[in-house]
Amino acid sequence: MLSMVDYVHERIQSYPKDLIGVDFTMGNGHDTVFLADYCSYVYAFDIQKEALEKTKQLLKEKNNVQLILDGHQNMDQYITSFDIGIFNLGYLPLADHHVTTLLKTTQMAIKKALASVQQVLFIVVYPGHEEGYKESLWIDDYVCQLDSHQWNVSSYKMLNKNQAPYVIEIQKKSV
Ligand code: SAM
Repeated sequence: MLSMVDYVHERIQSYPKDLIGVDFTMGNGHDTVFLADYCSYVYAFDIQKEALEKTKQLLKEKNNVQLILDGHQNMDQYITSFDIGIFNLGYLPLADHHVTTLLKTTQMAIKKALASVQQVLFIVVYPGHEEGYKESLWIDDYVCQLDSHQWNVSSYKMLNKNQAPYVIEIQKKSV
């Protein structure tokens, strides 16, 4: 089975190249770097300065990325439209676990992202910790209610492991 992150990267390669990407949770920068290689331009958000520093190092000479020290719930102050987005929720494994995505701001950010996305939004959900469990309950319920005439919503999930992380792919249908 592919890791959740590898699965997301593989799925992204089924979408056209050279579009606008957004990494809503930069962290150590692995998703940002992947998007920078695949997309023409990338916006990446994190609330931790360390995330921006690490990502900047990983990006090396790449200059098609805007690193934004702000919460993804404020995305509409920076972006009006994008094509491919990734939320990799939760906390950085080797950092302070108290700095985690939170239900309230995740809700705001996902709603704003769905209002601006043109192709696809990926959400990696981690129900194995307290805040992640709350996020998972809301996200599961919310995405199931998205209009199937406008959105294809699918999931990649290990079914025989309790509270395993999973991916939700929300693809915008073309009209
Ligand atoms: N995509 C990352 C990578 O490739 O390493 C991993 C992301 S990590 C699981 C989650 C990140 O979300 C943390 O770095 C955390 O600081 C960040 N975060 C938490 N709340 C946030 C918010 N409101 N807006 C943006 N980032 C946030």
